[in-house]
Amino acid sequence: MTKELYQLGEIPPLGEVPKKMLAQPIRSDRLGVPVSAYKKELINVPAIGPKEVLIYVMAAGVNYNGVWASLGKPLDVIIMRQKRGEPEDFHIGGSEAAGIVWAVGSQVSKFKVGDEIVSHCSMWDEDDPWIQEGNDPMLAPSQQIWGFETNWGSFAQFAKVQERQLLPKPSHLSWEEASCYISSGATAYRMLYHWVPHSVKKGDVVLVWGGAGGLGSLAIQIAKIAGAKPVAVVSSDEKIEYCKKLGAIGAINRNHFNHWGPLPDWRNTEKYNVWLKGARAFGVALWEIVGEKKNPHIVIEHPGENTIPTSIFVCDKGGMVVICAGTTGYNATVDLRYLWMHQKRFQGSHFANDVEGKAINDLVMEKKIDPCLSKVFQFSETGECHQLMHENKHPFGNMSILVNATRTGLKTLKESL
Ligand code: NAP
Repeated sequence: MTKELYQLGEIPPLGEVPKKMLAQPIRSDRLGVPVSAYKKELINVPAIGPKEVLIYVMAAGVNYNGVWASLGKPLDVIIMRQKRGEPEDFHIGGSEAAGIVWAVGSQVSKFKVGDEIVSHCSMWDEDDPWIQEGNDPMLAPSQQIWGFETNWGSFAQFAKVQERQLLPKPSHLSWEEASCYISSGATAYRMLYHWVPHSVKKGDVVLVWGGAGGLGSLAIQIAKIAGAKPVAVVSSDEKIEYCKKLGAIGAINRNHFNHWGPLPDWRNTEKYNVWLKGARAFGVALWEIVGEKKNPHIVIEHPGENTIPTSIFVCDKGGMVVICAGTTGYNATVDLRYLWMHQKRFQGSHFANDVEGKAINDLVMEKKIDPCLSKVFQFSETGECHQLMHENKHPFGNMSILVNATRTGLKTLKESL
């Protein structure tokens, strides 16, 4: 008889779904810093629809979605979903998973119970007219990020996804390694390849903010594979070496500069010139690394408010600043003279479609990309690892949480039994 609940790592018979599961949800009455927003609770295992899959989660990747959700900013995800008519008064986050297909809906055809998989985080309605017309699903009205805009993410023993989110798990990686690269990797891949004609190519200088971070560490590797010259920006000399090992031709320590933040008013010549001096010095530091006066054709942006003025300034004539977040704030100030006179492009980018998700997974399966796993946490530490991220005190690369995997280094269901 199926037990009502299996403890972490007490693996049920394959395909047997208990009524309840352990989860680390957030709730409206405890939104705030991650360390107190996440709490272990017993929750009913969700039912799945015809095109959906229930994953037995072995490990979950950690990324900023879990920080934003716990803070309730810029969006209270629970209220947002309740407005859509969803009844749950909690949110189970987690936008990356490595695990095992445990149950499949009646129309699932490509995956079966027992398959070892990773899951990317983009959901959409396949019947969405925009998608039916053959357009990019990431621009579809129905597109949502799993585990942020939707419930039932990977911070629980079982997670609910659409079949098309699934990709085969790279067999050479442990559960925790496999859980940590899809979100940052696929996002970086789209930033570097999607926005033609600004797709990365041999010889391009690519400036990567936060080069030792989750997104940055993957962006450096993808650019390197393309034959480009990635230059990282970091906040310590220790991180410079880390970025070089990943393939950066060099890295700039941003603490050597102090012109960060929104642009001063261009009418205030004195203040503006102080900013300009800082931005020019940053540009010179970049040229020194490149070895010639060559500016970045692509700038991988995500800090936002603090760094956008510099990114737009140093970007090459006809180049692109591509941005996927505003970690330091959302007010981007741009000196339009540099934008129009030098015909630069300022492009928003958000996660990735299935093709881009597969592309990064293939590169990992071919062992061309290292997932850059830095630290593994226990399920009980879900709040703590997000707290570290919130305070920018987390280790380099990507982090992972063991869910049903009881120890590190396990790679298959068989090994994990
Ligand atoms: P991460 O691992 O924390 O890396 C971010 C890096 O930003 C840090 O390593 C830090 O590096 C740098 N940084 C922090 N404060 C900075 C500042 N004031 N100025 C310049 N750099 C600063 O986070 P991540 O996983 O790479 O994610 C980065 C951002 O991208 C987050 O906001 C995340 O939500 C977003 N994101 C968006 C998508 C999407 O689909 N839209 C997908 C993935 C990630 P240094 O201190 O060494 O400079």
